[in-house]
Amino acid sequence: MSGLNRAQLQAVHFIDGPSLVLAGAGSGKTRVITHKIAHLIDTGLAPRRIAAITFTNKAAAEMRERASGLIGRKAKEVLVCTFHALGVRMVREDGHVLGLKPNFSILDADDVTSILKDCAGGTTDAATARQWQWGISAWKNQGLNARQALALAKDDHERSLAIIMQRYEERLTAYQSVDFDDLIGMPMRLLHNHPEVREKWQKLLGHVLVDEYQDTNATQYALLKLLVGEAARFTAVGDDDQSIYGWRGATLDNLKRLPQDFPQLQVIKLEQNYRSTSAILRAANHVIGPNPKLFPKTLFSELGEGEPVRVQACDTEEHEAERAVARILALKAASNPPPAWKDFAILYRANHQAKPFEKALRKASIPYKVSGGTSFFDRAEIKDLCAWFRLWSNNDDDPAFLRAITTPRRGIGHTTLGKLGEFAALHKLSMFGSLFNTMLPAVLGKKALEGLLEFGRNMNDLEYRARHCLGHEASRTFLIDWLTDIGYEQYLYDSEDSESVAAARWSNVLEFCDWMAQRAGGQIEDAAGTSTHTEIKSLLEVAQNIALLSTISERESEQDQVVLSTLHASKGLEWPHVQLVGVTEGMLPFKLDDDDGKQQHVSDETAARLQEERRLMYVGITRAQRTLVVSWTKRRKKGRDTVPCQPSRFIAEMQLDPATSRENPRDKLRQLRAEFAARQGDPT
Ligand code: ATP
Ligand code: MG
Repeated sequence: MSGLNRAQLQAVHFIDGPSLVLAGAGSGKTRVITHKIAHLIDTGLAPRRIAAITFTNKAAAEMRERASGLIGRKAKEVLVCTFHALGVRMVREDGHVLGLKPNFSILDADDVTSILKDCAGGTTDAATARQWQWGISAWKNQGLNARQALALAKDDHERSLAIIMQRYEERLTAYQSVDFDDLIGMPMRLLHNHPEVREKWQKLLGHVLVDEYQDTNATQYALLKLLVGEAARFTAVGDDDQSIYGWRGATLDNLKRLPQDFPQLQVIKLEQNYRSTSAILRAANHVIGPNPKLFPKTLFSELGEGEPVRVQACDTEEHEAERAVARILALKAASNPPPAWKDFAILYRANHQAKPFEKALRKASIPYKVSGGTSFFDRAEIKDLCAWFRLWSNNDDDPAFLRAITTPRRGIGHTTLGKLGEFAALHKLSMFGSLFNTMLPAVLGKKALEGLLEFGRNMNDLEYRARHCLGHEASRTFLIDWLTDIGYEQYLYDSEDSESVAAARWSNVLEFCDWMAQRAGGQIEDAAGTSTHTEIKSLLEVAQNIALLSTISERESEQDQVVLSTLHASKGLEWPHVQLVGVTEGMLPFKLDDDDGKQQHVSDETAARLQEERRLMYVGITRAQRTLVVSWTKRRKKGRDTVPCQPSRFIAEMQLDPATSRENPRDKLRQLRAEFAARQGDPT
């Protein structure tokens, strides 16, 4: 138990009743949980009688790893998982009392949308179905079923939604399926309505630990109470200032209710932050300052003042991305030993903000991963195009062949492809390599063969022409002509129900083509409007490099990579160097209708949402260990338009010293650009 301070030790040693560790960011709450698992085992509690509940699967994996570091193999038996995973286990074991088979299926969000569309007769668009999904989910998270929702419905809209919910529930029962919310609601009902099941679980679990308690919702709290029963042996750790899932039903009431529901509750506060420098912590404390104090807390750091927190004003998002990459390279170059790529994180409000940063990182050949969202380069439409490029660089890439030949479908059916696959396997050839084999006509019908040969000839012809296509203008025209030729835009519209989704996917494709074409060189204007001339390459060369990059990044999962993440997905994590990007009014805080930016005369709801936005900023700042940059852009893309932006009010609220927080933009930029250019290893 070395490596714990007094308050932490107190929290670890209190095991006979309910306790709450309430403390600010980076004060070692999660560390208390891992050490407490070890301590409980030391006191003789069997590992399988301990449940530690985390907020994400990733956090569970990390906690299991840390616990094995402390106690070795026994950690494997501890039930470390999310509320949902615990729910799955409970429903698998005891769901039969609710009439559910043990091999029930769990529906993901897409399944739910399509069932809901079906419930309404199939005439509804996906956006409406998703709205229903939110509404139904909100009811379920309050512990209501369709019948109760109908009884409580306030207007026609709610009444019709409750009726849809009723049909939806019937479908799920018929399909022997459950959705995510059921994974909490069902175990809760199981324990509530079936005393024998309740006793079984209460006897099994000797201690329950919950991390990120501030973000539990009402059903999760009800489930927790039923799991721990009268003995109430549990440890909840949390920070009311980091509650950022109110929009998904999490409620701070759960924190307020603990001392009322459990009068014997031990409340332990931690005050020392072991994560961040004083400069970073001060900015964090200033930002959270204006929020009402639910539980007063103090937080100090002994890690020294450290580097000042910097603010960067950038022109556009591309400019911001370029500077972020330059900073990463500069820090790498200036430090000894240099930090690893995984020591850097770029955090933003919304998934779509990752795109310019991904592009800039790719351009500089820096490995990165996008967590908590889909990477631009992982989108289906971009992967479709890359399949063709992969074939250009490696004709024997069978998965790429299958993808290219079926998107869009060109009248070549599964049977034909199946026969081709068998033929290829028999002759130890790749599928593409089999196309022109003289023995192939013996196994295929004439029409099927002609379709395949046409694809093969087309591919060879494209490859030949791409080899002779030079520079960005020619490349762009080539790519657009080719996409028109294969009817890709139409294919997107045919395969999507919603026109706006299809349009967004098509605009991704165009953007990708632009990006690729730029790699082919020539006279090019960059994001800041300056024109440069770069070496001219053939489109084939560019495509081959991109194909190579896309296969590499697929293989490099958990490796040394810069992390791009939403603020929400960054909760609980830490990095030496953090940059919060897109910190503009309208993005963070997110635009609220009746907010005048001065926080006077706003409705209660708006005030509450602003407070949650402020907590989100606090979470972001407190992820940083050593350096923190907060950047904003003077312009930003919004749909098809570019809109002027103001810095977020939260930047002023950090109360930074202007003398140290601002880099002399010209000098700094020039220096960084030079370093950037010198180190830039653009593979294309
Ligand atoms: P968050 O609120 O962001 O979830 P937290 O309170 O859970 O933060 P931890 O992640 O447990 O904080 O700890 C933050 C960092 O401080 C970790 O790197 C952890 O190893 C370190 N730390 C915690 N307690 C101590 C201690 N007593 N001595 C040294 N390092 C510590
Ligand atoms: Mg934590």
